Amino acid sequence: MVMGGRREKTKRLLRGQGRGAKRRGNANFRRTGETSGNERKMIGQNKGARPANLRRSNERALLGLLMRLGVASRSDLAKASGMSQPTAGKITAELMKLGIVQEIEEPVSGPNGRPGESAPLGRPGRMLCLNRDQPRFLGIELDVEETRVAALPIAPTAEQSWSIVFATPSHPEAWQKRLRQELKKFPHQDLWGALVSVPGIVDEKNGQVLYSPNLHWSEGARLPDLIREVCGLPVLLVQEIRALALGHLAAHPECDGFLLVDFGYGVGGAIVEGGKLYSSPLPLHGELGHTPVPGNQRICGCGARGCVETLLSRPGMLASFAAAHPDQPRTFAALAGQIRSQGLEAWLIESLDTLSSIIAGALNVLGLRQVVLTGCLNELPPAVTQRLADGIQRGALWARFGQVTCELAPRRRAIGLAAVGLDRLVVPSGHQPGWRGRDLGHSRKNAASRARRSRLPAARQKLS
Ligand SMILES: [Zn+2]
Repeated sequence: MVMGGRREKTKRLLRGQGRGAKRRGNANFRRTGETSGNERKMIGQNKGARPANLRRSNERALLGLLMRLGVASRSDLAKASGMSQPTAGKITAELMKLGIVQEIEEPVSGPNGRPGESAPLGRPGRMLCLNRDQPRFLGIELDVEETRVAALPIAPTAEQSWSIVFATPSHPEAWQKRLRQELKKFPHQDLWGALVSVPGIVDEKNGQVLYSPNLHWSEGARLPDLIREVCGLPVLLVQEIRALALGHLAAHPECDGFLLVDFGYGVGGAIVEGGKLYSSPLPLHGELGHTPVPGNQRICGCGARGCVETLLSRPGMLASFAAAHPDQPRTFAALAGQIRSQGLEAWLIESLDTLSSIIAGALNVLGLRQVVLTGCLNELPPAVTQRLADGIQRGALWARFGQVTCELAPRRRAIGLAAVGLDRLVVPSGHQPGWRGRDLGHSRKNAASRARRSRLPAARQKLS
C-alpha cells in the first residue's frame, strides 16, 4: 500500500513534468511562508545566475521533492524537478556527502507500481530519502508547563520521544540555568542548530516572542540569546502551532490546504495553503482561541474576558467539569469517563458549538475545507470531535455543496521543527549563509576537525 501510494505520487509529479513541474518542485519546499519568485525562475535557467544561488535553488528543489515523496529514485527526482540526470545526480551526491540525504534499499515495485508486483529477480532498488538516522538538530519544546528536549534527524520518521523533560521554571534565568544543567548530559556540540517551539505571538524572523498569554516571562526574554549561550548553536524560534501544522504537512503532503486547531493549555490555530504555511503582514494568525464569547466571564491569559480558550483549553474544560461535578477528581480521565457514561453535558455542548462556529467562520474567510484537530481532544471520546465536526459542517459554506472534513490527528511537533531546520538553517532560500556558512570564521584546523565530525568536507566549506 505504501509503495503503491508513493509510486502514484511520483507518477503524478512526473506527469506534470515541464515548466510547471519545475515551478512546483521548488514551491513544494516553501513551507515556512517564505517566497522567492526569482529562485523559481532559476531552475534550469542559469544565464546570469550566481552559481552558489543556483546550486542552493536546485538543492531546495530536490529536497522539497524528497520531502513530498518520502522516497524516490534518482531518475524520479530528475524527471520531477525537470533537471538533467547528471545535474540531479551531482546534487544528490553532494547532499548525501553532507549527510542530508541517505540511500536506502527498497524492493522495486512492478511496472504499475502496485504492491505485490515484484521486479525481476527481486532486485532491490537504490532509493533516496531525507536522512532519518543522524541527529542534526537540537529540538526544544518550551511549553507552559514542561520543557522538552530531543536530538532530531533531518526527517524524523515518527514523533520523537523527548530525551529531557523538566518543569518549565517561571523566570528566564532559571529556565536557562536548568537548560544548561540538562544539556551537560546531552551531547549536542556537533548538531547544526537549535529549533525551539514556543507558544504565543512569535516574530519568527527576528526571534522574538511578542506576546505570550500563558507564558508571559518569555515576552522580553531574548530567548535565542539565552539558548545560544547554553548550546553554542544557531537558534530559530517557531510558533508552536505552526510547528504542528508543518509536522502534519510533512506526514501528509497530500493535504496541501488545512486549518489546524490545537487544544492544549490554550486553543490556537495555524493555516496551510497551497502546501505552505500561511503568513500575514503581522506575525499573528490562527488565533481562534482569543475570540470573545458573549456571556463568558472568565479572564483569559491575554488579559481579555470571555475568550473561547478559557472554555475549551485543557484547564478551561477541567474548570467547567469541576464546576459541574465538584465531587469528581479534576482530571481529564475523569472528564472522559463522565462523557463516556453520560454523554455530552450542556456546558460542553455549548462550548463546542461556539467554537465550531468560529472555526467555520475561519474556513469561510480563508477558503479552506479541511480541519485538523490536535492535542487533548485526542484524550476524549469521539462524541466530542463529532459534535465539533457537525457544527463546522453547519457553518461552513463549502459544505452546502461540497465536502468539508474534520479529523483528529496526533501532534507532530518534532517533525515540524526538523522541517523548519532543513528549510531555514540547512538550505535557506536567497542569500542567507545557512549552516554551511557557520565555519567560515574559524581557523582551518577547527574547520577541518568540525568537518570530519559532521562529515562535511573541509574543501566544500571553503567554497560555501
Ligand atoms: Zn484571550
